[in-house]
Amino acid sequence: MTHIKKGDMVKILSGKDRTKTGKVLSVDGQQGKAIVEGRNIMTRHERPKKSGQKGQKVQFPGAINISNLTIICPNCGKPTRAGSKIDDKSVKVRICKKCGKGIK
Ligand SMILES: [Zn+2]
Repeated sequence: MTHIKKGDMVKILSGKDRTKTGKVLSVDGQQGKAIVEGRNIMTRHERPKKSGQKGQKVQFPGAINISNLTIICPNCGKPTRAGSKIDDKSVKVRICKKCGKGIK
């Protein structure tokens, strides 16, 4: 289980992009990893498909362990932990533990 969802703004806590922020593009809850837009960029060398062509460098954002990410609250703008509560419509919502407001 993870408290981070696609579309969240997160701060990276370790690795080469430590302290940087970005938007979550996808979450792999089973592996406990997430892809953050423009962060943890990896380069893959693609072999030429035909002889005579050049190989290509393809850059893509690599998966980051969710334990190395923290949500940035859209309300107070601070890195925070998400809590949860049941709202008045009996729906479980995520809340910011710093300001107590809901995180969509
Ligand atoms: Zn907040």
